[in-house]
Amino acid sequence: MGTLVRITIYSKDASPLRAAFFRIAELDEKLSDYKPESELNRLCRAHDQPVKVSEDLFRVLAASLRLSELTNGAFDVTIGPVTHLWRLGKLPGVETMSRVGWRNVVLDKKHRTVRLKLAGMQLDFGAIAKGYAADEGLKTLRRLGVRRALIAVSGDIAAGDAPPGTQGWRVGLEPAGGEILLRNAAVSTSGDTEQFREIGGVRYSHIIDPQTGLGLKSAIAVTVVARRGLDADPIATAVSVMGEERGRVVFGRQVRKLIVVAE
Ligand code: AMP
Ligand code: MG
Repeated sequence: MGTLVRITIYSKDASPLRAAFFRIAELDEKLSDYKPESELNRLCRAHDQPVKVSEDLFRVLAASLRLSELTNGAFDVTIGPVTHLWRLGKLPGVETMSRVGWRNVVLDKKHRTVRLKLAGMQLDFGAIAKGYAADEGLKTLRRLGVRRALIAVSGDIAAGDAPPGTQGWRVGLEPAGGEILLRNAAVSTSGDTEQFREIGGVRYSHIIDPQTGLGLKSAIAVTVVARRGLDADPIATAVSVMGEERGRVVFGRQVRKLIVVAE
């Protein structure tokens, strides 16, 4: 996932850490769009045929498509062709945009298959995989008897039970300021102002508005607290695209906390 993972646990021995890191590395192998041989990229090379996928990939893709539906496409993991150009400092044209669109992903829950209807589609789990990885790392630790744990996959953080004698893990919020106490919940922040490309004198964020194919030009930072990283991570990204007002209408009741800082 191209980032640092930090795991903190209260435990008599450190070996559960290794298992949690192993689980997260396994997810990286499946869900990364940087690795040519990841499960995700192998799926993207198969065009218009049902491909059997792992439970992890299916779960993350199903959650992504649910969010696309809820956000009317503001969240869209088929944005890959555009993000790949963005990484090269290029803007998409008509041909690139014709390969984007979440409605062209067909899931078959019973057979756990995925069919990508268009040639040249590219999935990008950059806005959801880190939150899911944090959740799954916690699950691995819990299975090994470690409940007091915190996993930070870059800015996507998931917490288990609180440290001894406390109400929760103290997590500082940037750029909102202040801190929260996190326990059996996850927090994600989107809108990393460091991640932008300057193209033709304009700064474009790595968060793309699928309606235009362009990176966001306004600096907005969204922090979301939810039960799971699988929700907090993508919702933070989605609200960055939708803006605060629509974000609150769609997610106000679903999340525990939604903080928007417009700079
Ligand atoms: P995050 O840091 O969680 O906000 O995720 C940002 C990353 O998600 C970007 O670097 C892209 O890989 C991907 N992405 C960008 N725009 C979108 C979008 N509208 N929907 C889903 N994923 C996106
Ligand atoms: Mg996100």
